[in-house]
Amino acid sequence: MSATRQLPPILRLLAPLDGRIVPLEKVPDPVFAQRIVGDGVSIDPTSSTLLAPCGGEVVHAHASGHALTLRADGGVEVMLHIGVDTVQLKGEGFRLKVRAGDRVSAGQALIEFDADAVARRAKSLLTQLLVTDVERIASLTHPSGSVKAGTDLALEVTLREPAAAEAPAAGGSASSDALVVPNPTGLHARPASVLAHAAKRFHSAVQLRRGEASANAKSLVAIMSLNVKQGDKVVVVAEGPDAHEAVEELARLILAGLEEKEAPAPASQPVHPRSEDPRALSGVTASPGLSIGASFQFRRVEVHVAEAGEGAPVERARLAHALERAKAELETLQTRLSAERDANKAAIFGAHRELLDDPELLEIAETALAKGASAGAAWQCSCRDFAGRLSRLNNDVLAGRAVDVKDVGLRVLRILTGAPVEQREFPAGCILLAEDLTPSDTAGLDPARVLGVCTVGGGGTSHVAILCRSLGIPALAAVELKLLAVPDGAPLILDADKGTLLTAPTPAETEAARVRQAGARRRREAELSASRDEARTKDGRRIRVEANIGKAAEAADAARIGAEGVGLCRSEFLFLERETAPSEDEQTAAYAAMAKAFPAASVVVRVLDVGGDKVLPYLAMAQEENPFLGERGIRLLLERPEILRTQLRALLRAAREGGRLKVLFPMVADLDEFRSAKALLLEEARRLGVEPPPVGVMIEVPSAALLGAHLAREADFFSVGTNDLTQYTLAMDRGNPKLAARVDALHPSVLLMIRQAVEGARTHKRPVGVCGGAAGDLQAVPLLVGLDVDELSVSAPAVPAVKAAVRRADHAACRELARRACAAASAAEVRALVAEHEAQSPVAAGGEAA
Ligand code: PEP
Ligand code: MG
Repeated sequence: MSATRQLPPILRLLAPLDGRIVPLEKVPDPVFAQRIVGDGVSIDPTSSTLLAPCGGEVVHAHASGHALTLRADGGVEVMLHIGVDTVQLKGEGFRLKVRAGDRVSAGQALIEFDADAVARRAKSLLTQLLVTDVERIASLTHPSGSVKAGTDLALEVTLREPAAAEAPAAGGSASSDALVVPNPTGLHARPASVLAHAAKRFHSAVQLRRGEASANAKSLVAIMSLNVKQGDKVVVVAEGPDAHEAVEELARLILAGLEEKEAPAPASQPVHPRSEDPRALSGVTASPGLSIGASFQFRRVEVHVAEAGEGAPVERARLAHALERAKAELETLQTRLSAERDANKAAIFGAHRELLDDPELLEIAETALAKGASAGAAWQCSCRDFAGRLSRLNNDVLAGRAVDVKDVGLRVLRILTGAPVEQREFPAGCILLAEDLTPSDTAGLDPARVLGVCTVGGGGTSHVAILCRSLGIPALAAVELKLLAVPDGAPLILDADKGTLLTAPTPAETEAARVRQAGARRRREAELSASRDEARTKDGRRIRVEANIGKAAEAADAARIGAEGVGLCRSEFLFLERETAPSEDEQTAAYAAMAKAFPAASVVVRVLDVGGDKVLPYLAMAQEENPFLGERGIRLLLERPEILRTQLRALLRAAREGGRLKVLFPMVADLDEFRSAKALLLEEARRLGVEPPPVGVMIEVPSAALLGAHLAREADFFSVGTNDLTQYTLAMDRGNPKLAARVDALHPSVLLMIRQAVEGARTHKRPVGVCGGAAGDLQAVPLLVGLDVDELSVSAPAVPAVKAAVRRADHAACRELARRACAAASAAEVRALVAEHEAQSPVAAGGEAA
């Protein structure tokens, strides 16, 4: 190591402002809080002249005057950033006193600012002092309390030696023979991504040549740009320490077809058996009902980004952060689609992930960043550039891949801008057709305009299905792929109960559907007129029918339609679609509003249940191979007790204001987990000096159902989540379209689980509710009544029909039915038993929404 590289081991940085030291994680901007830009500290300022924390050279002064970077004597870069989102002030209130290239000494004034004006207009005045060369930080300390600018130390950084420059690509060079590309559609995205991925494993520089043209083999973009077709000859050339191994391995992969099957499966492989009628597309009931409407394909829309950024270091960090998040999203998608289930789709998303690491795409973005573009503008520029190049190639398959680039580009832009990219205003009277919808897409649907939803993805118990049911929108999931070819405006009849979408209906079929709708409407009106009365079976057993809600605003609607309380508030909906977690005050207000809608009845709030397919952008979670079997529900909360404690305090405070709130813990697998969570509740209640509310346990993991008697000793009530209980009992993913028809809560094994849980609860006289989708399945109602559950909690629109079903039931007869169902061998047998039972004491099937 040369003497000139020697750097002082400790970098001492003086406070640039008077004020209070604040840890970086408290800064309300993830690029700072998550130390993406650099590591250091923040100051809540009481002075308004920013002083140099050390001597050095100004390497960048932002034109807006709110941020600058110094190279400290010794070479480490230090950034100072006044406030959060202050770039938007476009220089107003800031006066730069130095320029790039100036030498400054410690304590010299760098920026003057109008603290009051900035504080009024910016998100926060917290000012960041950061070492941006994070690889140089060995350790870092900062004081607490208040500091005086130019005098007190704000940060002490123990430095590491700078990393030795990358070893030159010593070794040798190697070149393959001419390799004939066997892939039927050449090196399009998927095989190209396999090649790029494999090439990146080697240290050598690797090129792929076709004739005179040559491309970086580590770049998916570059490989695709070579426009290699089936039968073309390519040569792999490598230079570096492992050149020979690289050439040997990559040549072998190319000749073997880069993991692509003989012929690529057609993109339109149906996931569902086709119906006899070529006009009818089949799917799985996600939300019951019958609709007549016109088709409308769900489309993504352009995102608008700001052109100018806050300077390359910040924007580079923003882009890196967004790319990481996009990769995590894609990985989740890929996991869902992986294995035999839908290997082709999974591979497409694998290629999308590869694009996010692509050196060429990143290089174009980097060039734009260096010129001052914002992260969004830089990324948009590189995606447009590349998609344009692909579209211009004389190759249909690669031109089609431009869509992938746009798709992945949009994913990153959405993360960067937080923009809702989906169109939310749909034509009145439409049936929405989509490849897939996210829970947030669905949550925004207006049932007055959207009469139905059909998706290629999803299943009957997916969260999208749950949302459609709560909105009263008939929906089909796992529909054949040709759904996406239906033109906009085509007349459709969606019979979600029967699992069919009829395209091009005849006038007679439309008329028949209208007659059925009218019948369903009359039945619905009759049910509605009695929906506020309590529900008792014919022989007098009282069954409470409550509502499942996601947000406070839904509570009042639920009360109006006759719900006797809230059996399940999925509180995660308060946490979705936002940049940061809701504060304790915000949550308190939401829970208090729910309780207010039911002054005389209880409201069960399930604490945050995320993990699995529900991810929160601001909750960093490790990648997991099996997220549904990983950190989910209470497991995740016990790992991050601060989130749980905040939520529990909010619930306790709302209860103190007079609400009859109950707390419910999700995904509990055993007594230890329940005890740990309950201990936190009791501790927070003690601290606040309030009585702890009743606390219940979700029965959705088989172990919890089987250990019901133990849990009942310490839990005040049970709530059976049949969606997850079915998924985990049958080991079938509730969101997998291929399994959707078989993930049936009426499977006898699931009924046996419920019976065991009810028996466990009874040993300690605990009430049992059912809040999963089965509670709203009219065929399941007599079985659940027969299994002696006390409450059914369903989506609000289903309350009247479920109450009517309870009234038609006879408890004694239902018990006999449940006994026989538990002895059955399959869900189909159980459904046949229920049909037979209904025929003897007619129960109107359906639950169609008018
Ligand atoms: C369930 O699993 O049945 C349940 C009610 O929880 P969620 O659907 O929110 O996972
Ligand atoms: Mg669940």
